[in-house]
Amino acid sequence: MSRADDLAASLTAVRLRISEACEEAQRDPDDVSLVVVTKFFPADDVRILAGLGVTQVAENRHQEAQAKAAECEDLGLRWHFVGGLQSNKAAAVAAYADVVESIDRIKLVGGLQRGAAERAEPVDCLLQVSLDAPGASGRSGADAGDLGALAAAVQESPDLNLCGLMAVAPLGEDPAQAFARLSQIRTEFLDEHPEATRLSAGMSADLEPAIRAGATHVRIGSAVLGRRPSIQ
Ligand SMILES: *Cc1c(COP(=O)(O)O)cnc(C)c1O
Repeated sequence: MSRADDLAASLTAVRLRISEACEEAQRDPDDVSLVVVTKFFPADDVRILAGLGVTQVAENRHQEAQAKAAECEDLGLRWHFVGGLQSNKAAAVAAYADVVESIDRIKLVGGLQRGAAERAEPVDCLLQVSLDAPGASGRSGADAGDLGALAAAVQESPDLNLCGLMAVAPLGEDPAQAFARLSQIRTEFLDEHPEATRLSAGMSADLEPAIRAGATHVRIGSAVLGRRPSIQ
């Protein structure tokens, strides 16, 4: 099979998983968007995916993302940035990313706004909330208690749109449990920010529990593209 055939088959399988999960959760499949995480895979794959109807892709490393977004500029895709952000790179990321999902501290917001101000369209922003146990190693994301101040900083920035929350289920815990906590955090967040309705949660291994917990965007890498060349 050609790479295009491979990608078509795996994309069909993932779309089916999403629609079955929606049906099971009694949700409208149109309310869950597929974002394909293309990190480590070449721009040629992005081009094939675009031809198969993918409209949103995500990357997690600045240099790779910047190069690929430039190479694929003609495809009209929405580029999501989902990786750990350094504050000195934030402005550069906002120059090409249409959506930044990994905003976890106020220090990033100034740079994002500077980058966003240079573009025609504002940048959609998701706050990454940590679902890890307090003090867990390698945790990323803001504490739920810090979301209010972070949201305020984004809202004060004229070229940033506060759209919602993003989270990654911690390793070693039942994702359904982690996403139940996320759902609770989101309900409280929506009380304060009713327009910030987006919820980015669910990856290849756990998209079903994420959809049950209310995800509006699932970020799928390996189930579409295959195993990444190295562990990430
Ligand atoms: C890599 C990555 C994904 C996709 O992971 P898969 O398990 O390959 O689907 C989703 N979200 C983030 C933040 C990632 O870094």
